[in-house]
Amino acid sequence: METVIGLEIHAQLKTETKLFCGCRADSAGPPNSRTCPVCLGMPGALPVLNKRAVELAIRAALAFHCEIHPRSSFARKNYFYPDLPKGYQISQYDEPLASGGWLELGERRIGLRRLHLEEDAAKLVHQGGRSLIDFNRAGVPLIEIVTEPEVRSPREARELLQAVRRTLRYIGVSNCDMEKGELRCDANISLRCGDRAGTRTEIKNLNSFRALEEALAFEEARQRALLLAGREVEQQTLDWDEASGRAVPIRGKEEAEDYRYFPEPDLPPLLISSDWLEEVKRGLPELPEERRRRWRAEYGLPEYDIEVLTEEREIADYFEAAVRLFPHPKEVSNWMMTELLRLAKEGELRLKPADFAQILRLVEEGKLNRSAGKELLEECYRTGKGPEELLQERDLLQISDAGELSAVVSAVLAENPQAAADYKGGKEQALSFLLGQVMRKTKGKADPKLARALLLEGLGPNRT
Ligand SMILES: [Zn+2]
Repeated sequence: METVIGLEIHAQLKTETKLFCGCRADSAGPPNSRTCPVCLGMPGALPVLNKRAVELAIRAALAFHCEIHPRSSFARKNYFYPDLPKGYQISQYDEPLASGGWLELGERRIGLRRLHLEEDAAKLVHQGGRSLIDFNRAGVPLIEIVTEPEVRSPREARELLQAVRRTLRYIGVSNCDMEKGELRCDANISLRCGDRAGTRTEIKNLNSFRALEEALAFEEARQRALLLAGREVEQQTLDWDEASGRAVPIRGKEEAEDYRYFPEPDLPPLLISSDWLEEVKRGLPELPEERRRRWRAEYGLPEYDIEVLTEEREIADYFEAAVRLFPHPKEVSNWMMTELLRLAKEGELRLKPADFAQILRLVEEGKLNRSAGKELLEECYRTGKGPEELLQERDLLQISDAGELSAVVSAVLAENPQAAADYKGGKEQALSFLLGQVMRKTKGKADPKLARALLLEGLGPNRT
């Protein structure tokens, strides 16, 4: 039995205003404060297409290698629900903005069927037995990306959605904040036996990577068990209930939606000139997959480092800026992954690449030991001050002057005769203890290599 999965992915476009009116397209502001007659569906109000939204959709289509159609059109998708004041959603149907294309997933390519523009519905808030409607989200621009049913496992579905998110964030098309519902996904799944296609079920509104993978794993197991027992899979639409970890049927085949699409009479066809297309293409940055390929060839970093550092464009740009100033890719990568990304977890990368590179250079040149380097980095990050300024303030520079350090070493040996005797008697670990004392006395500033050499010199030969 082979698993066959296809995804329908919705991503909110990063525009200032909504798709067909001038209302702000943000989630801030009190409920129903971003509304006007157009997005409230008042009679006689006419939609005007947001050019920026089209441009962002074209960007996405280019990044996914789709064919962009010079002419596409809008259609009304009719259904009756409180979140839809017009009684229909403006979407694209038989003439989408783009079709075909693919997404790279390691060695695999997952085909795309189409990419189109549509408006979001309002948000229903259920509380205390009542349902409230917030129209701030009504009319916010979305792209819908429909994949071919070429995904082969729940795990792969998750990776695909992660790749979509990475790319859309890279090219500035969407923030894809899943907690805010800016990236959502419906998934369909069936099990094929030999050349006999299985019956599909569809799982709606998956709004986290985990929910997507878990819901598909649940449904895969359920269908397999049915088929192994000689029973049929019923065509159904399911809702994922995260709390119970079960997919619950919401509609059967008989109740399948019939949207009665028809052309949107209030909007002219969407025409995209080749000049505009070229202009958008020129503005497209290097895509994550291209960047990964280039980094493999250019920097010789382990695959894990490449994956972590190219996940976000800002981080990847930072890495490259730092490597230009301090051309040791692995060292930059280590410091970024262990120190900088830890500090930046909740915010942006506040430290300038030039300051970061300078700290690494100070460590490389032996002027700072590693732990002092880490301390300085953290201080720079927290205070926003440059390394030079802080070094003067904090007196962090490594003691690598033999004269200065020998005095400390002599003092430590004099104060710890027992440890010195232990070492001479063959107890190697006594040396670590003494080294620790030297570091303590110098507040961690001693050059550890030099301190060790001086200790050995002061101790003389041990019994081993
Ligand atoms: Zn509006």
